[in-house]
Amino acid sequence: MQAGFSVALYDQMSGVGKKFLVAGNGGLNLTHSEELDTFSEKYGNNKDFFRSLLTEFSPTDLRKWCQLLGVETFVGSSGRVFPKELKAAQMLRSWLNILKENKNFSLHLKHKLVSIEKNGNMTFSHINKDQEEREINLQVDNIILCLGGASWSKTGSDGLWTKSLANLDMTLTDFSSMNCGYNISWSDGFKEGFETDYIKNISLSQGKNKVHGEVMLTNYGIEGGAVYALSAAINKQISSRGESKIFLDLKPDLSLENIKAKLKKPRNKNSMSNHLRKVLGIKGVSYKLLKEQTSKSEFENVEVLAGKIKKLSITLSSARPIDEAISTSGGVKFSNLDQDLLLKDCESSIYLMGEMLDWEAPTGGYLLQGCFSMAFHVVNCLIRAHSIS
Ligand SMILES: Cc1cc2nc3c(=O)[nH]c(=O)nc-3n(C[C@H](O)[C@H](O)[C@H](O)COP(=O)(O)OP(=O)(O)OC[C@H]3O[C@@H](n4cnc5c(N)ncnc54)[C@H](O)[C@@H]3O)c2cc1C
Repeated sequence: MQAGFSVALYDQMSGVGKKFLVAGNGGLNLTHSEELDTFSEKYGNNKDFFRSLLTEFSPTDLRKWCQLLGVETFVGSSGRVFPKELKAAQMLRSWLNILKENKNFSLHLKHKLVSIEKNGNMTFSHINKDQEEREINLQVDNIILCLGGASWSKTGSDGLWTKSLANLDMTLTDFSSMNCGYNISWSDGFKEGFETDYIKNISLSQGKNKVHGEVMLTNYGIEGGAVYALSAAINKQISSRGESKIFLDLKPDLSLENIKAKLKKPRNKNSMSNHLRKVLGIKGVSYKLLKEQTSKSEFENVEVLAGKIKKLSITLSSARPIDEAISTSGGVKFSNLDQDLLLKDCESSIYLMGEMLDWEAPTGGYLLQGCFSMAFHVVNCLIRAHSIS
């Protein structure tokens, strides 16, 4: 708008930023403080593209922009960046207030994009105050589509836009869950009287990938930051082998030898559970899990048990339903777009960005930063294309 454009924002929901608000429930991890080379590695195959986006609008730029909205941010002990309030509402409110004060901005809620043509003609379906549905046709100079991924449909990100965009003839990849939980066939004994519990300060590995963090065990399986970080590798193994094996290190700060030495301390009359609690602090759900994943004889053999504590094998049978996932991979392939994120071979100017494109990143602020950097890039390209200064 500062560049002279009039901006009309259309969303199918009754309010904007619903998924952003949901992200705020977990503290709103806006971005990460690590240096850009390490940061861009998190985007896997698309790391070079994101490296250039991050140079254009970096995590530092994002933090400065938050400051302009009156939102102070801080770097947590893990290097992740959060707003001081650990919520999204204040940031979204102040962002919307700034937009609404601008006479060149208009907001159109409950407008669902139902079709779009290559010539830029768009059709929306609008439910008005009297709950009547009517069709609205629109033709504008430039279109930016950011329709989200396919999880948490109650926030509006339902992935149904794939049908509305059919006439744009783009190549799409099917959506799949990313940063998601997994189902595990626990024994009935394990599930009994148990809903969810955390195991903190663990490391989790799958193939060459290893992460430090926490997991949440649930009566259906496993969730949590460390699992989400491995979801790309886990999904790959599930689709090729029908299941995936991950390995949990319950004591990442101790070597195998240290653990053996501690387990070999005299047990006296203590039961193994008391002994594990006293010498290694393994108790509660960690103890329950260790018992679940070892046979009786393995559990009584100190040498074998020490190995299990360092490398406990857990089999994941399937990903949780896509609607529960924090993000989705799949969507519009980058090959449909040029470097400006402008749709190729199209008679009108249609840009695409955000989670609706086929990229993935772990949790840690990489998703939101990726979306913000894409938005900055698209707006810059649009301004350049129209030579408005
Ligand atoms: C529980 C949870 C926690 C998260 N926490 C974090 C976090 O801490 N850090 C982080 O980096 N990321 C986090 N994310 C991910 C992050 O929120 C998303 O990656 C990000 O919001 C994607 O932005 P987007 O603009 O591409 O899509 P969205 O935010 O999904 O927005 C898409 C919009 O398009 C609208 N829309 C869709 N179809 C139509 C249509 N046909 N017509 C009109 N409007 C339509 C929707 O209503 C929606 O408002 C979290 C996600 C979840 C679910």
